[in-house]
Amino acid sequence: MTPRLVVLEGVPLAPLTTLGVGGAARHYVRIGKPEQLVAALGWAADRGQELLVLGGGSNVLVSDAGFAGLVVHLAIGGIEFESSCESTDVTVGAGEVFDRFVASAAARNLAGVECLSGIPGLTGATPIQNVGAYGQDVSESIVRVSAVDRATAEAISFENAECEFGYRDSRFKRDDRDRYVVTTVTFRLSNGGRPAIRYPELAAYFESAAIASPSLSDVRDAVISIRRRKAMVIDESDPDSRSAGSFFTNPILTLEEAALAELTGAPRFPAGDMVKISAAWLIEHAGFAKGHVAGNVGISTKHALAIVNRGGGTAREIVALAAEIQGAVRDRFGVELVPEPVYVGEHER
Ligand SMILES: Cc1cc2nc3c(=O)[nH]c(=O)nc-3n(C[C@H](O)[C@H](O)[C@H](O)COP(=O)(O)OP(=O)(O)OC[C@H]3O[C@@H](n4cnc5c(N)ncnc54)[C@H](O)[C@@H]3O)c2cc1C
Repeated sequence: MTPRLVVLEGVPLAPLTTLGVGGAARHYVRIGKPEQLVAALGWAADRGQELLVLGGGSNVLVSDAGFAGLVVHLAIGGIEFESSCESTDVTVGAGEVFDRFVASAAARNLAGVECLSGIPGLTGATPIQNVGAYGQDVSESIVRVSAVDRATAEAISFENAECEFGYRDSRFKRDDRDRYVVTTVTFRLSNGGRPAIRYPELAAYFESAAIASPSLSDVRDAVISIRRRKAMVIDESDPDSRSAGSFFTNPILTLEEAALAELTGAPRFPAGDMVKISAAWLIEHAGFAKGHVAGNVGISTKHALAIVNRGGGTAREIVALAAEIQGAVRDRFGVELVPEPVYVGEHER
């Protein structure tokens, strides 16, 4: 029996995103069961409609014109634990809130995702851009990504190496962009493992709190506290969190490029045989201070890397501000900033 689909028309997308801008979806369906997903793929194919998979809407910039196809809002949840002596495999439904999984891992003393505490969005999106923060990313713990091929509606699964993870990158963002719908992600976490404290800011937090041997829960609390100071957790009462998080990825440069005099002083981190430069530093030194205002949008007062909707903002304003920042950084440093959020629909430039 074909599963029942409730396809709605003209559903506003702005409230379904953390930036809160953009128009409506021509068609919209909420999917709670895997069988419904296959039916939705068929529905869109039969009508020749484009399809957009939407998770928590925390990494998308929807155009003011909206999306002229079918938006599939994934709500397939579930968290299953399977323990062995040293590790536990946790299979998480794509529609599960990622931070709920991260919290449950810390509560069970399972190490591997503690530094990813407080990241908004759903679990199915995390392999797409290899979500990461505070020196950890999901590629370190993902063992398998299960998905459905949008073209054939067949199930397929990818082992870690097949995902071709990189910094904020994977095959799902590159060559296979929009080809698969992730249905579950399996993480391997270490039982009673030590937390990863690789990031200087995190180490400094524990030093000042005089905590010599922090637990996984301590690290979770610390990361959330640091993120809150930067408005990097979603908080209705903090207008600086009406963002898509970091709007640009940190550029990765060769050692020669990074040695340019203009970049002296820019915070940098090793990235293989290259160097990752702080995009926030580039933005501030190109003339865009925290709290910069551009009509109804602007830059967060707490983090130069976050473009915020100050209230009543439009996608057009955000696209224009992002382009202005890119232009200024290009002119000043010769470095190209790459936006992190996915631009959805036809944007006016
Ligand atoms: C305040 C704030 C802080 C943030 N901090 C971080 C951070 O520290 N580190 C970091 O890496 N990111 C961060 N982000 C970005 C964002 O939270 C992550 O990228 C998150 O994984 C996006 O999840 P989502 O469910 O909201 O995805 P969405 O925004 O709904 O979708 C993002 C993209 O993934 C695709 N997608 C979503 N689900 C699926 C699926 N199941 N199958 C196939 N494709 C799918 C969508 O089509 C879209 O292209 C932050 C965002 C905000 C607002």
